[in-house]
Amino acid sequence: LIQLYMPLNFLGIVYREIRQALTDIERMFGLLNEHREVADAADAHTLPADRQMQVDFDSVGFAYETSRRILHDVSFTIPPGQTYAVVGHSGAGKSTLSRLLYRFYDVSNGSIRINGHDLRSVTQHSLRSAIGIVPQDTVLFNDTILYNIRYGKPDADDDAVFAAARAASLHDFIDGLPDKYQTRVGERGLKLSGGEKQRVAIARALLKDPPILIFDEATSALDSATERAIQQQLEVAARGRTTLIIAHRLSTVMNADCILVMEEGRVVERGTHAALLAAAGKYADMWFLQQREIQEPGGEGVVA
Ligand code: ADP
Ligand code: MG
Repeated sequence: LIQLYMPLNFLGIVYREIRQALTDIERMFGLLNEHREVADAADAHTLPADRQMQVDFDSVGFAYETSRRILHDVSFTIPPGQTYAVVGHSGAGKSTLSRLLYRFYDVSNGSIRINGHDLRSVTQHSLRSAIGIVPQDTVLFNDTILYNIRYGKPDADDDAVFAAARAASLHDFIDGLPDKYQTRVGERGLKLSGGEKQRVAIARALLKDPPILIFDEATSALDSATERAIQQQLEVAARGRTTLIIAHRLSTVMNADCILVMEEGRVVERGTHAALLAAAGKYADMWFLQQREIQEPGGEGVVA
């Protein structure tokens, strides 16, 4: 019986390991895997590399499920090097915009173009090489923290990785761990907090050094002091890059070249912070509400 049991037990372990590994891969690429329909066109070409990239959303409509339309006729152009912010209540469709730009999904109507190239006409590899994204929820690989940051740019040397970690206010934390950069993180390693994971994702994006950056509530899990420190780094990183920043706290996007206010999948207001305040519309209401919440004890002014 033992002779029979041992191999079965062994197989059980192997099976569990394989299952776990598959689960990890699925989690990491969860968003990709859900959408196998997003594939390179047979004649897909490489998005020409360029430090100057313009992003166009042209009458974009989108539905995850055909029965429920999430985005309606969204149009805007981010000129090369500018920072556009998207604000609005939870469920307005902000993250969906960022997922479409990274082409986790294809638009249902209209088009998205980078330097005039429809996203559907270029290879996913060349598209994603041009974009650094800090998603709302970061999933880490079951690997070392060094690997997780370097994933942004696999050929980066250690010093570049450390510099990116410093910019993301993460270096001192890592340096304090017993195994430092060799510490394993993820499901089967050290469990990082939401804020620490966000900072790994920020370090990864900064290391990647892409012409386009997307920050989707990239600092939402950080305490106010850390958020302020990183906010400055993000502003430095955004300089000269085409940046789409989805904001959690309005105070973090005051300096954007343009702020898009979204409501139920539509852009309902747009303009600079000053212009939107002067317009005394929805943005102004949100702004004054947040200002009041910040002044009240315990209020963090969360709108997004
Ligand atoms: P926001 O980032 O502004 O909070 P999202 O873009 O995440 O909003 O979501 C917009 C709408 O799309 C919400 O109603 C949400 O429930 C829906 N949604 C988001 N992701 C999916 C998905 N994978 N499948 C179906 N519906 C989704
Ligand atoms: Mg979101």
